Amino acid sequence: MTGYLAILDGREVWYLTSLDRIEGGEDLPQFDRDDDNDLSAHPRMRRALLWARSGSAAGVYSFLHWSDGTDLDGLDNSIRGGGEIGERLGRALVVECRWARCGSCGLKIRVAVPDTGNPFVTPERLRAHRWVKSCPACGQALRPYVAEIVRVVADSPIP
Ligand SMILES: [Zn+2]
Repeated sequence: MTGYLAILDGREVWYLTSLDRIEGGEDLPQFDRDDDNDLSAHPRMRRALLWARSGSAAGVYSFLHWSDGTDLDGLDNSIRGGGEIGERLGRALVVECRWARCGSCGLKIRVAVPDTGNPFVTPERLRAHRWVKSCPACGQALRPYVAEIVRVVADSPIP
């Protein structure tokens, strides 16, 4: 696997630029091939392996999400060039992808949400982040802390 060792909150993380590829990722906790294909070059997300939970030898497949307009192609270039990235990395929120449904119209959506039990997910980062507030189909309020809607399953509303 290609990628770059970086430091987030004093912990080692494995950062994957948009061009890095994961072979045999199915062995990684929480790896999802569809997410990997769809999100590797996302304008607000990058993939990372984290060793946040004790007892986990393999890095947990996760995502970093920025809601402040950080230029992630520029960040990738800095990492490739060995430049300073700590400040920009520190503005990211660690998220993971899960399936959810809109509580009003039933639309099935793949969302990126923070795991609040993860030590990287601090109250300060939750406060600083901007969230997706409403369902893209019906406009009703979503559950709190949706960082990104990464996929919508068309025609999925429950009749
Ligand atoms: Zn809805």
